[in-house]
Amino acid sequence: MPIVTRLEGLIAPGEALTKIDASSVWAEGIVYLPNLNSIRWSDIPGDRIVHHDLTVGITSVYRQGVEFTNGRTLDKDGSMIQCSHGQRRIERDREGVVTPIVSSFDGVAFNSPNDVVVGPDGAIWFTDPPYGIIFPNEGHPGVREYEDHYVFRHDMATGTTRPVITDIEEPNGLAFSPDGTTLYVADSSALTGENGSGNSWIRAYDVHGSRCKNGRLFAQMAVGVPDGLRVDTAGNVWTSAGDGVHVYAPNGEHLGHIAIPETVANLCFGGNSGTELFIAASTSVYSIRTLTTDTNL
Ligand code: MG
Repeated sequence: MPIVTRLEGLIAPGEALTKIDASSVWAEGIVYLPNLNSIRWSDIPGDRIVHHDLTVGITSVYRQGVEFTNGRTLDKDGSMIQCSHGQRRIERDREGVVTPIVSSFDGVAFNSPNDVVVGPDGAIWFTDPPYGIIFPNEGHPGVREYEDHYVFRHDMATGTTRPVITDIEEPNGLAFSPDGTTLYVADSSALTGENGSGNSWIRAYDVHGSRCKNGRLFAQMAVGVPDGLRVDTAGNVWTSAGDGVHVYAPNGEHLGHIAIPETVANLCFGGNSGTELFIAASTSVYSIRTLTTDTNL
């Protein structure tokens, strides 16, 4: 079976998959660091952050005992914003010094922030499913203090935090369209099947400033659940799934598939040209050359 199915104009014919590392238990939250030509990801059950220097091809443990970090993104100043299951918060890592950004709203704790992006408005947008408080190897047992799972927006200028999406069962990965007018959010509630939902789809929302409207189904996964996702410069959505990476046009058309031999949790564009796709897939991190990039570089 070919590794790449379709994806004409997005991946050149004959491109191969490279396995970069195989040292994780469950790799997630992968980000490219352009100033270091490196990738960094969370090994959530390993409770550590792993670093791979692409220039020299060496993997190292960036930090161990990290309170189960998950998704991460670079802020505009180059510092790292990351989700902490164990601390139930969003935090910042600036050259190794970790400080909390936000850990509650209206006096109640978050569940276990899962993935995070900096929006076009400069605010921090993040998802808050329950995995870090219900899966023993992904955090610490805890209660859902607000009894639901929301997408939040934290305004760094004013310090205010409020829910922006409340109709997704278990929000997971999220990404904005290049023009910032659409927010895509994965619903991975098939992982738990709570409330009889069992959703395995991506929803899209129109973004009006700090508000999200017109939520609708964007793409349904056939195998496994969508987790982390990215949007390329043409607005195509590259999403993780149980059988690899799937790519969808902005109108929801399925453009093709990259078969990965392990369950994919997250992905990012990077490398010197910005066109390498790095894929966090269970125990391994893979890469494949593409013909596009995203807008976060
Ligand atoms: Mg995730």
